[in-house]
Amino acid sequence: GSQAVDRKVDSVCPFCGVGCLITYNVKDEKIVSVDGRDGPANHSRLCVKGRFGFDYAHHPQRLTKPLIRKPGVPKGFDDAPRPGDWSEAFREASWEEALALAAGQLKGLRDTHGPKALAGFGSAKGSNEEAYLFQKLVRTGFGSNNVDHCTRLCHASSVAALLEGVGSGAVSNQVNDVDHAELIFIIGSNPTANHPVAATWMKNAARRGAKIVLADPRRTDISKHAWRTLQFKADTDVAMLNALIHAVIDEGLVDEAFVRDRASNFEALRDNVKGYSPEAMAPICGVPAETLREVARAFATAKGAMVLWGMGISQHVHGTDNARCLIALVTVTGQIGKPGSGLHPLRGQNNVQGASDAGLIPMMFPNYQRVDNAAAHAWFEEFWGMPLDEKPGYTVVEIMHKALAPDDDPHKVRGMYIMGENPAMSDPDLNHARHALASLEHLVVQDIFMTETAWLADVVLPASAWPEKTGTVSNTDRMVQLGKRALDPPGDARPDLWIIQQIARRMGLAWNYEGEESGVAAVYDEMRQAMHAAISGITWERLQRESSVTYPCLSADDPGQPTVFIDRFPTADGRVKLVPADIIPADERPDADYPFVLITGRQLEHWHTGSMTRRATVLDALEPMATASMHQADLDAMGLAPGDVITIRSRRGEVAIHVRRDDGTPHGAVFVPFAYYEAAANLMTNAALDPFGKIPEFKYCAVRIERG
Ligand code: SF4
Repeated sequence: GSQAVDRKVDSVCPFCGVGCLITYNVKDEKIVSVDGRDGPANHSRLCVKGRFGFDYAHHPQRLTKPLIRKPGVPKGFDDAPRPGDWSEAFREASWEEALALAAGQLKGLRDTHGPKALAGFGSAKGSNEEAYLFQKLVRTGFGSNNVDHCTRLCHASSVAALLEGVGSGAVSNQVNDVDHAELIFIIGSNPTANHPVAATWMKNAARRGAKIVLADPRRTDISKHAWRTLQFKADTDVAMLNALIHAVIDEGLVDEAFVRDRASNFEALRDNVKGYSPEAMAPICGVPAETLREVARAFATAKGAMVLWGMGISQHVHGTDNARCLIALVTVTGQIGKPGSGLHPLRGQNNVQGASDAGLIPMMFPNYQRVDNAAAHAWFEEFWGMPLDEKPGYTVVEIMHKALAPDDDPHKVRGMYIMGENPAMSDPDLNHARHALASLEHLVVQDIFMTETAWLADVVLPASAWPEKTGTVSNTDRMVQLGKRALDPPGDARPDLWIIQQIARRMGLAWNYEGEESGVAAVYDEMRQAMHAAISGITWERLQRESSVTYPCLSADDPGQPTVFIDRFPTADGRVKLVPADIIPADERPDADYPFVLITGRQLEHWHTGSMTRRATVLDALEPMATASMHQADLDAMGLAPGDVITIRSRRGEVAIHVRRDDGTPHGAVFVPFAYYEAAANLMTNAALDPFGKIPEFKYCAVRIERG
């Protein structure tokens, strides 16, 4: 029904990393429907979120005026009114007053306590241009590298392993490459819910004869399409993956030429997996030895075997080790550097790849150039014309700890600027994280709704929703894609790029990226230079014509490189560095007091902390309330029926929630999505970190469950 619309505007879906291209159909200044466009990642397909998750932009709770906390109103969640009713705690203000207060307070903290007193969280929901400008503000205006975003909660461990092993954090092969794979190994991922259109390509490949192997403690929908499902015990990833590598070596299936020419450290890997035979690991991981051997054989002998993974791999204290094992598996079998093979960490947020590329991370400048690398440091000092800190900054969870540091800690974080992130819902151990946010001397939050994080702010700046902006985002496939502005922001809400610049100017930076479109283009062009070769062939003009271009893209006539590592790896010696991994148990194991394992994650209809999708009419109608999934046997043992209310409690927090039967959830475990403020799963999760990626262990902690 698109005949009656006033205009059609081309954009990109704002939810997941698949990066479906869409068209907004606008009538009377409202989006009335969304069509799938023929983009390279979606070929006109959309999932329920992309198709129906748009009217949040018109929700009456949109912030339309800057807000300033009323004096004396304490920051906390006791008796908090639900989002939308903020008038008790905040008053409306002019932009001039709100910006002067926000920037003045941040500047004052910096001048009194030094640059380390400030930190910024940007967002993987914003554009590349916003991410680039935000990290530049923190590095040049705040004066430290204390800048991060939700990649820290997502694939930071995968990226740590990939940078170490293959020299690049991005995917080696695009999702559509499943067309060329004989075996598709999906681990720690529920693509039907979290990358739905990508899942359709996997299912179509299975129909054509490709073998899907699903390896996951939860038996999810994609299992119906799988040749083998390895429902391994939660937390035993390294045991199972080392057993597969052991079987490949043991059965003489190593790609000797590939390992000789293109890998280093094979002997150490081989020696390490000697103790991990399938027979020894079967009782640990719960998968029969013969099944492990069968899968290892199929993987090694397939013409192409491709690995796709999600948060089930990354969100563990051994997340980096999990990913190291996946790198080793594809390397010893020669399943990388050719079509239909390789490594694909499925990116969660629509722009988590792009925001990371743009430098929204504390240890790297744009394009993963380390801040403590002398050459990179000198280059950026010259490029930005400012002295820069040469020490990596703190990460998301570390910043929360530093906010609660004693007063004499020279690195105590006292002021923060948060753009489009909601750590008061998304961080682990929320009682701690919320306490940390509330204890800041000054918190500035820029968002489109009164999120749980904004609720703890001193100043709230009303920003633009995605359909109200022009900008680029980069999907899981390394495609830079352009979205165009379809609407004006409501009331006094402003584009994020404008707001960042207003803060920057008031902190002493002479920035001037003027103009609604020309300003975005100017920032994009500067970012393109900062990223050197990677996207040099993807000009702003080219994006206007093509909408989507894959990188690496070295020149104007380079079509982009969908498969990388064909000749060499971008490591120092051009080879994969194999890194052996041993079993490290979860930080908190079940015991007599807390006998169940809590697994957190997402569901099809809602997106992350729910701030958008729970305000989208259709999606909210489909899944209006929080539910916890448990196996029938566990429900029976506790005398519970689906629909009953249970209380789930960890050592850190608790939620009351309705229970749902799901026999794909393993015995002794409960699965809770983290999208619901009224049953916030992260009240219970554990903030223990993977030592390399600094990612918290969202996928495993101990809880007890009580009726009622
Ligand atoms: Fe949007 Fe992802 Fe669904 Fe595509 S698969 S429509 S990008 S949420």
